[in-house]
Amino acid sequence: MTEAIGFIGLGKMGGPMAGRFLDAGHTLVVYDVREEAVAALVGRGATAAPSPAAVASEAGTIIVSLPTPDIVKDVALGRNGIVAGGKVKNFVDLSTSGPDMAREIAAALAVRGIGFVDSPVSGGVAGARAGTLAVMVACPDELFAEIGPLLEAIGIVFHVGTEAGLGQTMKLANNLLTASALALSAEAIVMGTKAGLDPQIMLDVINAGSGRNSATQDKFSRAILPRSFDFGFATGLMQKDVALYVQVARKLGVPIDVAGAVETIWTKTAAEFGRDSDFTNIVRGIEQRAGVEVKPKTKPNP
Ligand code: NAD
Repeated sequence: MTEAIGFIGLGKMGGPMAGRFLDAGHTLVVYDVREEAVAALVGRGATAAPSPAAVASEAGTIIVSLPTPDIVKDVALGRNGIVAGGKVKNFVDLSTSGPDMAREIAAALAVRGIGFVDSPVSGGVAGARAGTLAVMVACPDELFAEIGPLLEAIGIVFHVGTEAGLGQTMKLANNLLTASALALSAEAIVMGTKAGLDPQIMLDVINAGSGRNSATQDKFSRAILPRSFDFGFATGLMQKDVALYVQVARKLGVPIDVAGAVETIWTKTAAEFGRDSDFTNIVRGIEQRAGVEVKPKTKPNP
């Protein structure tokens, strides 16, 4: 029998990623503070454990996908954290928790002889389901040789560096672009709509031209024009990612002229629609201030 893997944090990303490990034939021990999230994975063949420490007494490799840096720290190093488990050898963080936290956790785990794999992911819920995420791994070469093949179950694995924090740095650069693309595309599409253009025609033109990006190619058609606002990523998490980026850039002495403005609009959106709202709601805030709704008059260009 293969050695069990532990998986903690079975949310929008963690649920489907844990499912991919089950599909790949791994034995999974799982934990989440939400019982319904645990039940869904148990229904697919995973075993439930009552705490992170209990997971770490059943499995040598523990993978987590958790919302904030403080929660990752608590699950790793807290009283009932994985450090209290008897079997844990490696801790893999798929969350976006920032380079400072990655370094802090890596150092604390190293003292206890536990390996740390800094490994945030990109590609959204659809990528998590399909196993097509970009997986940005930073850890020593020997650890990568062990963990890299395992992570191929969830996507394309990149070894971006050997030091904890570099995976997170890569992810923050990526997510600044995601956050900026959506914010700026929202302003541009609302502006064109108010001026009299059809937003669907605008998207068709932009996607055939040089302005195309991840928001115009995917988010508008799936969650904004249909007014479902359910793309699958929380406004509070997007705001957290941009704030972490700004912190890192400031510390490095890199200008944040544009990133600072992007942070402001995400902070405003989180205040207006709540941190748990879907991040596509950013469009509704801009619509409300502009006094116009992005309503297509035509069908998408096939
Ligand atoms: P989510 O809120 O849907 O999932 C987080 C899960 O963690 C929830 O099931 C929650 O119950 C659980 N949790 C919270 N506190 C816990 C604790 N103390 N112990 C155990 N479980 C706990 O969030 P998500 O969208 O799945 O994102 C998870 C991480 O992945 C975040 O760091 C996010 O920034 C990152 N991320 C998200 C996306 C996306 O598109 N949603 C894409 C890439 C990366």
